[in-house]
Amino acid sequence: MITPGQAVKQEPALDPNKIIGAVYCPGEGIINPFNITNGLASTAGRYGAKILTQTSVTALEMTGGRISAVETTAGRIKTEFVIMAAGAWTKDIAAMAGIDIPVKYERGEAMVSMAVPRMIRGMVTDGSLFVPPENTSEMVVGACLGQTASGNIVMAQATTDGADYNCRSTYEGPVRVARKVLTLFPGLDDLEIIRMWAGVVAYTDDKKPLFGFVGKPDNLFMVTNFHSAVGISPGIGELTLEAYRQGRTTPEAAAYSIQRYVKPEKISQL
Ligand SMILES: Cc1cc2nc3c(=O)[nH]c(=O)nc-3n(C[C@H](O)[C@H](O)[C@H](O)COP(=O)(O)OP(=O)(O)OC[C@H]3O[C@@H](n4cnc5c(N)ncnc54)[C@H](O)[C@@H]3O)c2cc1C
Repeated sequence: MITPGQAVKQEPALDPNKIIGAVYCPGEGIINPFNITNGLASTAGRYGAKILTQTSVTALEMTGGRISAVETTAGRIKTEFVIMAAGAWTKDIAAMAGIDIPVKYERGEAMVSMAVPRMIRGMVTDGSLFVPPENTSEMVVGACLGQTASGNIVMAQATTDGADYNCRSTYEGPVRVARKVLTLFPGLDDLEIIRMWAGVVAYTDDKKPLFGFVGKPDNLFMVTNFHSAVGISPGIGELTLEAYRQGRTTPEAAAYSIQRYVKPEKISQL
């Protein structure tokens, strides 16, 4: 915990009159999501992974309680082990294995500005993303921002309930985020926004990850619902590899088990 004075020392563009307290996390950092994604993909490729882009899973073929093949728009792939990491689309793909899992999704909106001289030193959030909203049916607006190495300021986020996998920005979302950012950083009032975007993010009502073996089919492993998963994705990958090698997840991951939603006897026999 740090004082408002310390917060402003860390982030000089903050309006000191608006801060009543702050938390400083020295271990936090900023990563470029494109670079980490491409980096992980090319390293996986060097280790023998084959990545099929622009390819959809259309069906799961079941034989003797196991997924024996995955049907895709690029053809059929025989499978020994299947990791389902389908985010917001998990409910639909799980249904292909006869599993009814109450994974919902929300739409988050963000935007990025033109490059400007350094104004924001770290990653700053007003915390709205990390507390349960009072009313989830309304737009939840947070001020969460960071400045890239090239000087662009990335600002997020407006969150609404997801529907029809709609990933379009609204007019209202970015405007409300900008207003909130300006209450903390009044010096950003001349900033030009060059791009905005939205995405859908999975969650269950308990807001915990879903991580582990499904039980039936016994060669299906589910990984989704991790909040702000980009930064922790290498760690999630390592935990998944460990579970694959051991044939079970670590005891610490028990709270994230899919069995809290799907009782094995309720999974239909395919
Ligand atoms: C505006 C916004 C800002 C965010 N900011 C941050 C941030 O600063 N830091 C952070 O860590 N996180 C951030 N997040 C959250 C982050 O994007 C998610 O936590 C992360 O993407 C979840 O990763 P995932 O792989 O589980 O799911 P996704 O990234 O949703 O991946 C699921 C994939 O499954 C694919 N898929 C779906 N159906 C099929 C099918 N039938 N066949 C084949 N593939 C299929 C989809 O195309 C998708 O690529 C933000 C999200 C939003 C919307």
